[in-house]
Amino acid sequence: MNDILPPESSRWQWLEDAVRRVMARHAFRNVRLPIMEHTALFVRGIGEVTDIVEKEMYAFEDRADQHGRAEHLALRPEGTAGLVRATVEHNLLYDGGKRLYYMGPMFRRERPQRGRYRQFHQIGAEALGFGGPEVDAELILLAVALWRELGIQNWRLELNSLGQPEERRAHRAALIAYFEQHAEQLDEDARRRLHSNPLRILDTKNPAMQALAEGAPKLMDYLGEASLAHFKAVQAILDANGVPWRLNPRLVRGLDYYNLTVFEFITESLGAQGTICGGGRYDYLIEQIGGKPAPAVGWALGVERVLELLKEEGVTPPEAVPDAYAVVPDAASLPQVMAVLAQLRAAGVAVQMHASADPAQGMGSFKSQFKKADASGARFALIFGADELARGEVALKPLRAVPGQEGAPAQQLCPLADLAGLAARIQSPLAA
Ligand code: ATP
Ligand code: MG
Repeated sequence: MNDILPPESSRWQWLEDAVRRVMARHAFRNVRLPIMEHTALFVRGIGEVTDIVEKEMYAFEDRADQHGRAEHLALRPEGTAGLVRATVEHNLLYDGGKRLYYMGPMFRRERPQRGRYRQFHQIGAEALGFGGPEVDAELILLAVALWRELGIQNWRLELNSLGQPEERRAHRAALIAYFEQHAEQLDEDARRRLHSNPLRILDTKNPAMQALAEGAPKLMDYLGEASLAHFKAVQAILDANGVPWRLNPRLVRGLDYYNLTVFEFITESLGAQGTICGGGRYDYLIEQIGGKPAPAVGWALGVERVLELLKEEGVTPPEAVPDAYAVVPDAASLPQVMAVLAQLRAAGVAVQMHASADPAQGMGSFKSQFKKADASGARFALIFGADELARGEVALKPLRAVPGQEGAPAQQLCPLADLAGLAARIQSPLAA
């Protein structure tokens, strides 16, 4: 579990701002959901025989109430189950489909390594109540728009269709027969899953089992006409949008609730933890959680991995620095200075005020204050000298060279009577 501190936190905020813009352009609206839910929600939603529920969930029994009843609670390992719970609880689909997104921490007890943490963050987009392939494609295009907005170029899109439950049942029988024929090659995980969830064996990360998984019966060969048509329609929309994709018949995703389209965005730049975003259709989950049957499709991306990828690709978000640093040589001026700063801030100027570590030592030398001003990254120092203040003025000193202009720009005296003018000068990109 990581602390996210400046300057790293400005990169997070920059990414979140980009997400909000892209979501707004696609008319997705924000939801904020609890971090804890009943354990049973995740067991029912994600599936009993999954990595998450079998070994990764932080689940515990709460203290008993006065009747001796204790609730089984879990820190959310993903966002979809909670969103579906909220959709059902608030009858969100009563007047039609909804496009929603969330951002926030998720928790999984995994072996921490690069790109894999125990508290990590997901951004998820979900379209609930829409059954057509155009919405699968819309979700994928939404992610592509986000990569474009962020400046991420190194990704590939893998697609698969998991068909419908009855198609999967026929495939499942063939799969069990195939793996039983090769029982001696199965590892412990696979043997355990053979009869509970054989599809997940295809998702194995064990190199020794790759060839076996490769040769297994393909679900695609068991899909009926309607499932194939749905899949083709998604592909046609992606093609018309110039979005490259490749078919990965072994893409099954780690959660049980998917049907029809599933997809992952993968990058080569992050080593083993290369999946930056994954999702798909989950038309039966809402009913399974107790709602009226309604289709849905969504994805979730891993924020830590996307930020790491941005670093790899050399995308450097602008750092959050103040516009101006207030140098205050004399502590006696502070009341007047702070009234001025409040007005500048109200006009939209970002100002960092000098403050002393030890008031007994005064405000610190002019030189040391100036050093701090420079280190702050601010473009200007606002120097509140006692003489200038007495004349109703403040000195505005540029700390950075102005692009296209020679030499260090000169300091100017500005009247405190015109703070709007001062604010405008500080905020002008060509200000000197
Ligand atoms: P993986 O195969 O890498 O374990 P997953 O299939 O478990 O991924 P999902 O449940 O689909 O992952 O979550 C969506 C995204 O969240 C992943 O593609 C990944 O970017 C991110 N993610 C998942 N688990 C972690 C984690 N422990 N730490 C950081 N990011 C994660
Ligand atoms: Mg995982």
